[in-house]
Amino acid sequence: MAGEAQPDCLFCKIVAGEIPATVVRETDTTVAFRDINPQAPTHVLVIPRVHYANAAELAAGDPAAVVDVLREAGEVAAKEKVVDSGYRIVFNTGPGAGQTVFHAHAHVLGGRDLQRLV
Ligand code: ADP
Repeated sequence: MAGEAQPDCLFCKIVAGEIPATVVRETDTTVAFRDINPQAPTHVLVIPRVHYANAAELAAGDPAAVVDVLREAGEVAAKEKVVDSGYRIVFNTGPGAGQTVFHAHAHVLGGRDLQRLV
């Protein structure tokens, strides 16, 4: 069913604690952890605990969870001290856009010059 944990989903396994991650923050509805292949000094992924394939499907199925993810992205940016220098929130959607993990996630990138896109 929509929103339920998927047995073969890497990020569902991180939510369940079955795969280790460097967790930065957790809430009742989200988990934020460091990307294993960072593209910037701050590169944190914020994911909803519920499983949806991408951000648009999350918005359609559980709109409140999108707000939670975005609020949490801001909390992560504050904790990482990148608010003043600026940070980017990215939702890759679909294989053609480079999405490789099909559990909605926000990339929070900061700590370097982000003038160029991604
Ligand atoms: P892309 O690989 O093009 O960034 P996504 O937008 O789907 O595609 O992002 C998935 C992200 O998950 C990647 O940045 C990848 O480095 C990260 N990742 C994959 N496995 C893990 C893991 N076990 N722990 C933390 N981050 C991971």
